[in-house]
Amino acid sequence: MGKEVLDRPRRRVLRMGAATIIAVPAAALIVAPLMAAERISEDDPQAKALHYRHDAADVDHESYEEGQNCANCGLFTDPEAEEWGPCEAFGGKHVAAEGWCNAWVPRA
Ligand code: SF4
Repeated sequence: MGKEVLDRPRRRVLRMGAATIIAVPAAALIVAPLMAAERISEDDPQAKALHYRHDAADVDHESYEEGQNCANCGLFTDPEAEEWGPCEAFGGKHVAAEGWCNAWVPRA
């Protein structure tokens, strides 16, 4: 029995280890954005506290001014997002571009 035959299982283990090292971070890159895309619910306690609504037309709050919405808010961190995008006020959860809450600030 030569040395080459004895090294085969060892090489296989090393290859599997290398595949695992590559696969785990790759899976994290795929899963992390999906997790970050969680949409805020109007029933979320924080959303209720900030009077968040998915549609600014439904807002009945003294601070609201016509024309304000999430898409033109400074805390809406992806200006390229068309329907839903991340909001800093909700820890990166997605809010509706047409939504509004009491934390609205003008985009700089
Ligand atoms: S902070 Fe701005 S982007 Fe976030 S929910 Fe309120 S209005 Fe929308």
